[in-house]
Amino acid sequence: MPRLEGKVALISGAARGQGACEGRLFVQEGAKVVLTDVLDEEGESVAADIREQGGDAIYLHLDVTQEQQWQDVIQATVDRYGKLDILVNNAGIFPMFRVEETTVELWDQVMDINVTGVFLGTKHAIPAMRAAGGGSIINISSVAGLVGGSRASAYSASKGAVRILTKNTAVQHATDGIRANSVHPGIIVTQMTEELLSDESAREQRLTGTPIGRFGTVDDVAYGVLFLASDESSYVTGSELVIDGGSTAQ
Ligand code: NDP
Repeated sequence: MPRLEGKVALISGAARGQGACEGRLFVQEGAKVVLTDVLDEEGESVAADIREQGGDAIYLHLDVTQEQQWQDVIQATVDRYGKLDILVNNAGIFPMFRVEETTVELWDQVMDINVTGVFLGTKHAIPAMRAAGGGSIINISSVAGLVGGSRASAYSASKGAVRILTKNTAVQHATDGIRANSVHPGIIVTQMTEELLSDESAREQRLTGTPIGRFGTVDDVAYGVLFLASDESSYVTGSELVIDGGSTAQ
């Protein structure tokens, strides 16, 4: 039986990269999926492609910093598919600035998208999931939310905040049947890491620091997210799934 048979999922930042891959995998595993992003053309095209292959998916515009948009998208999900079982808070930005180089404007922008976006999604998904008898919230943090790094200070702080917000959600909503877990990818090859990996020395350094000896793929992350989304992980909440080729194991 497909692993997400009968489930309804909402994914933020799903027009490309990891979110799009998770959308495709969820549909293959029997879910109905609402893909959302600010990149409308790309998002519509992913949804259309899924439908052409016989899957059930729609695309809706959602800027995760906008509370009213979250409310509208969650309502539209329930109106169309009857409920909400799975939320993947995946949208994020990754500016690479050290502490001293970080302006307050940049700091606020990163916190708005990477942290407030997760908070708002969580806050407004909870009533819908409670009405559905439970659900699974998967927050995409990063290894940058677990250990310090040489760049991307605001990003690291934001991903650390996501890690602990996830545990609060897990503790507060376990009795509602709502689980919340964070995922901590290492370097995954997507548009987000293009700039970082175009620097040959940074690339070599990161590769040397990855015991498995390669960077991650969107599939590597999506299969972990799938496990957390499915009922196979029904006793897993408040946990951290690290998908980093061993880089933080050292
Ligand atoms: P992508 O940049 O390909 O995907 C992120 C998506 O989020 C983009 O489509 C982006 O659009 C969108 N987005 C940005 N701002 C908003 C917003 N305000 N509202 C809605 N959507 C928005 O990167 P990945 O797929 O790699 O990243 C997915 C998640 O994984 C992120 O949370 C990232 O931090 C995390 N992650 C990524 C790692 C990696 O190595 N790639 C490692 C660890 C964690 P836009 O182009 O407008 O920014």
